[in-house]
Amino acid sequence: MNRVRFAPSPTGHLHIGGARTALFNYLFAKKVGGTFILRIEDTDEDRSTAESVKSIYESMRWLDLAWDEGVMADGTEKGAYGPYVQSVRESQGIYRKYADQLIAEGKAYRCYCTPEELDEVRKKAALEKRPLTYGGRCRNLTEEQKKEFEAQGRKSVVRFRMPDAGFTGWHDLIHKDVKFENKLLTDFVMLKTSGYPTYNFACVVDDHLMEISHVIRGDDHISNTPLQICLYNALGWKLPEFAHLSMILGPDGTRLSKRHGATSVGEYHKQGYLSETMKNYLALLGWSNAESQQIFKKGELEEKFDLKGCQKSPAIFDPVKLDWMNGEYIRLLPKTEMLDLVMPYIKESGLDTSASKVPLIDIVALEQEKCKLLSELPGKIEFFFKDPVYNPEAVEKTLKAPEVPKILSGIKEAYAALPEFKEAAIEAATRAFAKANALKAGQVFHPVRVALSGRAEGPTLFRMIEYIGKEESLKRLDKALTLI
Ligand code: GLU
Repeated sequence: MNRVRFAPSPTGHLHIGGARTALFNYLFAKKVGGTFILRIEDTDEDRSTAESVKSIYESMRWLDLAWDEGVMADGTEKGAYGPYVQSVRESQGIYRKYADQLIAEGKAYRCYCTPEELDEVRKKAALEKRPLTYGGRCRNLTEEQKKEFEAQGRKSVVRFRMPDAGFTGWHDLIHKDVKFENKLLTDFVMLKTSGYPTYNFACVVDDHLMEISHVIRGDDHISNTPLQICLYNALGWKLPEFAHLSMILGPDGTRLSKRHGATSVGEYHKQGYLSETMKNYLALLGWSNAESQQIFKKGELEEKFDLKGCQKSPAIFDPVKLDWMNGEYIRLLPKTEMLDLVMPYIKESGLDTSASKVPLIDIVALEQEKCKLLSELPGKIEFFFKDPVYNPEAVEKTLKAPEVPKILSGIKEAYAALPEFKEAAIEAATRAFAKANALKAGQVFHPVRVALSGRAEGPTLFRMIEYIGKEESLKRLDKALTLI
């Protein structure tokens, strides 16, 4: 049975790295007919927030990464392995039970060291240039010493007793053979003084109880894996397979961070990227198929994804490629879907489109071809609904040529005489005017475009003019003449 999980710590929004991990788990489950679980790892009491949980769920839904088990949209839990939130599991004593068992077996112990004492250990290790492992006083306390510490009112944590010698290794599905020397590994804390479990402990208990078959996560967790494997061994549990996904770097080769721009999925949504684009783009961060395919149709990734295509070398997050990809996906959208997707951005921009004689869907479709971000669309279609804002550079470059006044008045006359103000007729009239006046087509098209839209670039010219409408076009030609 293939069971995988995405286990975010809700200490912020879902960021690019987390979303990529979620996606690869989801795709793996889809490909092999397995189960995808969403588990919330909120054992960091200081940093976990309910808003982060909500935001992570929202981003997962936006990306359409439907999970089979976990907390569902209505707030209820689905699945036979719950609860799926670690703080709830903690309140049921799930972790304490295994900690007690390991203490009873001598595989874990209570440590009474104070933060100050631990600081001393740290300093000493640094001075002696030794790796920082615990190896301290509480490893072998006598019953008497323990009683004395407790009588002093010292608080204790529970530490795992790491093997002193040998190696811990595994065959990673992406990084191949990985091993660590045990003496370099620390007796890590399993339960904090608050009684709350740490990530390494809670994660192992839950992965085991939830029967996770494959742990697929970022390779920033590679150093946690030997600690977790030792725990599995101590508890006599079967190991899952491990697959550590490559790191994601910014274009400058440093770890992806705020410095490189948006890092959370929600920000990309706001900026006008399609969820299909994000899904496709994230899939290519550290994975490729044999054909190096770049664009995937809906449902295709779910069929083609394979852990074998994952690389261990870092993946580069390239915003230029992301924009290109978004443009490709936008072009592929049916007109109705494009309108649905762009509507929230139009509303948000405050643009009033209600007085339009041309259906909004057609105006949006006109700009679809060249649109890279949904958020830029309201600005691109604005001039259909209100007076154009004349771009000073376009005015200077295109409208100030000596022949322009004659062209604009001539075109105005030609358009005014058109019985039917349709694309083909407008084009024919414009070309006829150019020919009659021995002008090149471009010499006429450019100033007409600037006069009618205020800008030098835009959608296909004659359809654009048809949509602006006859009366309005004539008015704008007059207005442009006053600018010259
Ligand atoms: N809560 C951990 C994190 O967000 C999960 C790591 C794992 O998948 O084991 O990094």
